[in-house]
Amino acid sequence: MNSEPQRSRFSDVITNDTAGAILTIDVDAICENYRMLEAKACPAACGAVVKADAYGLGAAKIAPALAAAGCRQFFVAHLEEGMALAGLLPEQAHIFVLNGLPPGTEALCAEAGLIPVLNSLEQLRAWSALAAQGRSRLPAAIQIDSGMSRLGLSPEEVEHVAGTPALLAHFDLRLVMSHLACADEPNNTANADQLASFLRLQRLLPAAPLSLANSSGIFLGADFHLDLVRPGAALYGLAPRADAPNPMRPVVSLAARVVQLRTIERGAFVGYGATFRAERTMRIATISVGYADGWLRSLGNAGAAWFGATRLPIIGRVSMDSATIDVTDLPEGALVPGMFVELIGPHQSADEVAAAAGTIGYEILTSLGQRYHRQYFARRAEPAAASLEKDMAA
Ligand SMILES: *Cc1c(COP(=O)(O)O)cnc(C)c1O
Repeated sequence: MNSEPQRSRFSDVITNDTAGAILTIDVDAICENYRMLEAKACPAACGAVVKADAYGLGAAKIAPALAAAGCRQFFVAHLEEGMALAGLLPEQAHIFVLNGLPPGTEALCAEAGLIPVLNSLEQLRAWSALAAQGRSRLPAAIQIDSGMSRLGLSPEEVEHVAGTPALLAHFDLRLVMSHLACADEPNNTANADQLASFLRLQRLLPAAPLSLANSSGIFLGADFHLDLVRPGAALYGLAPRADAPNPMRPVVSLAARVVQLRTIERGAFVGYGATFRAERTMRIATISVGYADGWLRSLGNAGAAWFGATRLPIIGRVSMDSATIDVTDLPEGALVPGMFVELIGPHQSADEVAAAAGTIGYEILTSLGQRYHRQYFARRAEPAAASLEKDMAA
């Protein structure tokens, strides 16, 4: 398959002038967030979770920038994500596949130089069988289920593995990890319980670097940092804790173009299902974003756009390709067709959009559509020499 994006004969004239909506991703802010989390976790190492295309923001652009900022451990969820990333990162970078491997793909994974996170006895046995055939040990990570009941070896399975040394004999065990279910709730006792369970179970396995904390886990305190932390959301600007102001730099801005303005009279309805009825004369605008772009239907009659400091409530249902906003509060003529309103930006974070939609910022980011005109900001390119020096010092 050709990896070049398909170019139409109009490719050269597709610019922000033609865009229906513009998604801007500040790669420098992601790198600054990385450095902030790295400093907070120090002396633990700081990896980066770039699964789901770096939470919808573009792993091919973001992961190499994080590597230049010093990140050496990358986490994807699926084997195919790892294969796509493998060629884009420097040799010193390690790519871990969180979901482990579909049966039969072990050789492919080894060939791509990826490190599977072995979550079950089946995955562990299959990787072990491949490793036993080779001359050198194969790198592996093992996940322990410390209470979330999602992925990883159960306590009984950890004991079984501990009692069957042959299973691990051909591994270069790079990481033993687990995952927290309630890290965003600092007072939830499940956090300490999972930490204790993880520490108890990992002692049964050969010594290896330990990892437990996601973004929120980093903010639970140094006990949770262990050897390596695995932030995703916080890198992309989402708030790692609900009980404090967001310390992360914002990364994403989203602006949608105004297609049409109209005045409607009292009693007129707006949108599919006529779920909104005007109670007065209103000025409204139709904007170029819809649920096909990941601007969720649950934002109908709930979310808002912004123009400068004015909040413009979404009225009626969100359509596939458009949504309607109330612009009555703006001076007449302030907003005209062709101009843009803010959907994510200084007045409204992705977390706030999520709250209006009844979901979490993660879902807002990973739903961001392919139709947006995407632009990436990377003002300061990291000098290559600096990261080289760092490798040699390590
Ligand atoms: C997604 C994921 C992370 C990152 O979580 P954030 O909350 O986005 O920081 C870390 N570890 C595992 C196992 C994950 O699945």
